[in-house]
Amino acid sequence: MSDHAAFRQTIQAFLVDKLTPELKAANSRQAGVFADAELSRRWHSILYDQGWIAPNWPVEHGGPGWDPVERFIFQDESARAGAPYIPVIGTQMCGPVIMRYGTDAQKARFLPAMLSGEHYWCQGYSEPGAGSDLAALKTRADLSQDGTHYVVNGSKIWTTHAHKANWMFMLVRTSQEAKPQAGISFLLTPMDAPGITVQPIISISGEHELNAVFFDNVRVPVENRVGEENAGWGVAKYLLEFERGAGAAAGRIRRFIDQARIMAQAEGGGGGASFWDENPDFRARLAQLEIEVLGLEFSEREVAAKLAAGQPIGATSSLLKLGASTLLQRATELNVEALGVYAMPDQRAALGFAANTPPVGPDYAATPMAKYLNTRAATIYGGSYEVQHNILARVIGL
Ligand SMILES: Cc1cc2nc3c(=O)[nH]c(=O)nc-3n(C[C@H](O)[C@H](O)[C@H](O)COP(=O)(O)OP(=O)(O)OC[C@H]3O[C@@H](n4cnc5c(N)ncnc54)[C@H](O)[C@@H]3O)c2cc1C
Repeated sequence: MSDHAAFRQTIQAFLVDKLTPELKAANSRQAGVFADAELSRRWHSILYDQGWIAPNWPVEHGGPGWDPVERFIFQDESARAGAPYIPVIGTQMCGPVIMRYGTDAQKARFLPAMLSGEHYWCQGYSEPGAGSDLAALKTRADLSQDGTHYVVNGSKIWTTHAHKANWMFMLVRTSQEAKPQAGISFLLTPMDAPGITVQPIISISGEHELNAVFFDNVRVPVENRVGEENAGWGVAKYLLEFERGAGAAAGRIRRFIDQARIMAQAEGGGGGASFWDENPDFRARLAQLEIEVLGLEFSEREVAAKLAAGQPIGATSSLLKLGASTLLQRATELNVEALGVYAMPDQRAALGFAANTPPVGPDYAATPMAKYLNTRAATIYGGSYEVQHNILARVIGL
């Protein structure tokens, strides 16, 4: 048996042991992009105790020292097993930035707390007038006269889990004179700093994942700046490589396909047999989707192998992002279709970690409509569908 096959078995055994029926049941009531904070914390601490909470970190900072293929296997098996999808904003996005650009003091302060889960992070990039065109951001940070801190004023929007996070990394404008990209800095701020207000944005499905965050003369110590002043654009772009980089989405999408099949076989089709038996068109679309998800999985494996060989993946991350987001949307559409009338009722009371209200209809009826609605955002966050196409068009010289 190859090392990687043995590694896969190790991960599977761990998941059988630690992913309890209770955790799986809680996860089956999740409809957001990430698992909600309480469930995330539970799974985070189990992975932390195992030393596996930051698969992409080097051993010297507390990572497991896995190669890219092992990381892929871990993510893939976790997704297939139905493990909570915990926010990657700290360990996967901010952690590598601090390792590369942070001072020794920042590394010592932030990396262990990120690993343990003591610090729960959110990402303050987007603003009302700065999403795809991020360099247009206006939130300003003015250096105090004594040079000890910045005074931050402005707002951020679409900030995932800002209402749960106790730290935010953010992009701010520290120079009004330079060209837009040259006047940006990267700051870290505790969310309980005086002057920060978090305002909920409720998603179309009823979830509270997103927020608007307002800054009114918030003081951020200069030692919380990562990288040089006005050099934040380079830091921001480095971080986005990790947001959009290699992934293992196929395993997660496959769960939705399996679920669609289960529901279609259980639900009546109206003519006396199951929806599955009565709808060859549905079966054909599900089979087509399965084929395309297999294609995505091969691409994900290829990227992992390339990274393991030290080869650049270039714009392939845009292809993966496009494939993962559009296939996920199609899989959740099939779920709603298979669920039929039970997709219609308001199931919000049955969603979330602490929900003890049964869904209207069978157990599996709680999440499909909410998931369907929430995954419309998959082609917006992390670089929109159109922006990814622009990147690909540039690469092939269109
Ligand atoms: C669920 C969710 C979670 C998010 N979480 C976070 C978070 O935690 N932190 C954070 O900072 N941000 C977050 N975002 C924000 C996200 O990064 C932005 O929504 C995204 O970058 C798009 O920006 P925008 O919403 O301002 O849309 P715009 O940039 O205004 O785009 C509007 C439309 O125009 C298209 N468009 C824009 N520019 C071009 C172009 N050059 N060529 C062709 N088409 C173009 C876009 O594709 C889109 O269809 C989140 C968003 C969502 C939906």
